[in-house]
Amino acid sequence: MRIAVISDVHANWPALEAVVSDFGGVDDVICLGDVVGYGGDPLRCLDYVRGRSWLTLTGNHDRACTDPDALGWFNEEAARAIRWTVEQLGHDRLRWLRALPEQTSRLGIRLVHASPRNPVFEYVLDTSTAAANLKLLLGGVCFHGHTHLPGVFQIEGRHVVHNYRLGATSLAGPALINPGSVGQPRDHDPGASYGIWNTTEGSFEFRRVPYDREAAKRSIRQAGLPERFAIRLDFGY
Ligand code: ZN
Repeated sequence: MRIAVISDVHANWPALEAVVSDFGGVDDVICLGDVVGYGGDPLRCLDYVRGRSWLTLTGNHDRACTDPDALGWFNEEAARAIRWTVEQLGHDRLRWLRALPEQTSRLGIRLVHASPRNPVFEYVLDTSTAAANLKLLLGGVCFHGHTHLPGVFQIEGRHVVHNYRLGATSLAGPALINPGSVGQPRDHDPGASYGIWNTTEGSFEFRRVPYDREAAKRSIRQAGLPERFAIRLDFGY
């Protein structure tokens, strides 16, 4: 079975559309959260993800749409985007966001937005944070998003390392695997990032897809969202 694993769409419709066209015949799709926030097309992205009944987790931006405490952690620009997003969504979509699970598992793989230790909010950006979370996996594998940085935290010898290269890698635990961000990559590559989990081969393939960034930038500007959210798409940061 081939399962596409996406995360951090962040209301970037052209990026989501491009990634979906790149799937090439998948049996299922898993979305690790942050469908909204930052971008100018929350309705189209949310309705698309929801309409397909993909297994979708809650991200911190999704949570912030319905939880003032979560919104309190956001910087002013990101909070402004959330407030605008909430105005667009309406009750029914907000109810859907509120009901998204924080964590689950599929075929023995743990699924969270942020980290096993703190499923919605913790950033796994360095090897010491990764080490603490790898311990909790008891030899297993976890798919997570949140940092918008694709790659694998795993143990080599006595050290935790971070590896990222396009193409397939084998799923050997303990490992934290991040497919990167569809709608706002931050590893200096502007291409939409995601992965394909091949459950038969036990592998995960990292992919990048170019998309219409001008259209995504236009949506952000038309919505009156911070200009920085448009510019950063060109730099992959
Ligand atoms: Zn995110």
